[in-house]
Amino acid sequence: MTISRRGADRIRAGHVWVYRSDIIDAKEVPPGALVAVQEEKGGRGRPPHTRILGSAFYSSASQIALRMVSPHHVDNLDQLLRERIRNAIAYRERFVEDTNAYRVIFSEGDFLPGLIVDRYNDILSMQVLTQAMDRAPIREVVISELKEKLQPAGIVEKVDSRVRQLEQLPERKSGLIFSAEVRTGETPMPEPVTTSTEFQVNGVRFLYDVVGGQKTGAFLDQRENYAAAAEYARGEALDVFCYQGGFALHLARTCEKITGVDSSRPALEIAEKNAGLNVKEIEWIEANAFDLLRDYSDQGNKYDSIVLDPPAFAKSRRDLPTALRGYKELNLRALKMLRPGGILVTCSCSYHVGVSDLLEVVSSAAQDSHRIVRILENRGQSKDHPIIVGIPETAYLKCLIVLVS
Ligand code: SAH
Repeated sequence: MTISRRGADRIRAGHVWVYRSDIIDAKEVPPGALVAVQEEKGGRGRPPHTRILGSAFYSSASQIALRMVSPHHVDNLDQLLRERIRNAIAYRERFVEDTNAYRVIFSEGDFLPGLIVDRYNDILSMQVLTQAMDRAPIREVVISELKEKLQPAGIVEKVDSRVRQLEQLPERKSGLIFSAEVRTGETPMPEPVTTSTEFQVNGVRFLYDVVGGQKTGAFLDQRENYAAAAEYARGEALDVFCYQGGFALHLARTCEKITGVDSSRPALEIAEKNAGLNVKEIEWIEANAFDLLRDYSDQGNKYDSIVLDPPAFAKSRRDLPTALRGYKELNLRALKMLRPGGILVTCSCSYHVGVSDLLEVVSSAAQDSHRIVRILENRGQSKDHPIIVGIPETAYLKCLIVLVS
């Protein structure tokens, strides 16, 4: 496939996406095919010729029509995939510690666009986001390499129905796609492993069950921020948007009293079970965070430490102004409720909200609440979610830890 100069420049700058509008000759290729990508050169008196840019996966549905998998011609795709997976695993072996739950494969961040694999102790959770990664031969190679290298007790597939619809892929159900047989006794009695397990992050215990009634999982991208937050937090703490207790359970190490807030009852039920595993007493409140923060700050409630980890408010650039108003409201309420010397951990997982946007939000909230805010740490996502410098979209999580006087 031949792409425009603009598309080619993007690839040369280290990105891996080619938009449909940058494709010049769309040859008929099947959805999810591996294609050679080239740029047409020449003109102005020079004979036209092509320059090879590498190989990419094609999507017939996405605006991101091509995702580069190699800067070279690929003869043996199976070998390339296996190599990429091995590299991803080796990177985690080198840089990930204090956990048996982490992202093993982070899509573009591991040059395996469209594939996400998380490890929760002995269970792997796999998510396929593109036509190419959904092709049966590719799935087979991926699963076989993961089994060989990580020897999981089970592999579950976590389906994102919206993404599958956008990629025009047939519907699929989440569930177990591989189970190591556990044989007991004299006669071989195959017993499928269950799809639930327990995992540890920084020594804190959590339940995992993606198939059962109460779905679990974790925001693994916050793993290193949990540990950092616990280092600074103290006294009475409020974990807002607590989900299944990621921050709250870590704060329990250094804080005297912890309250977790979330609007999802099922998430809080798991949070309570997780607390039980760690023998920690935490108060869980089911509420809309905006309402609760307004009420609490109006009532004059005070805290020593507050965590704000809302869902992505800006799903697209268009949402940015509304999203920033949301972040401002939360941060302002939090600043008002912090005692002098208090700690605020404030996060944004919206790619479209840059770190400078979040800093501006906090700065404007500081001004409105007449507080002095010192930045202790300006953090991002954990290292198992690698950021590639030429691919800005691989960096999405912001986490500021600030001191409020
Ligand atoms: N801090 C968590 C992850 C938070 S994800 C962790 O580290 O594990 C965002 C959470 O916000 C989800 O659990 C979702 O249920 C919750 N949520 C979304 N909108 C909300 C609202 N308006 N009020 C309270 N919780 C909300």
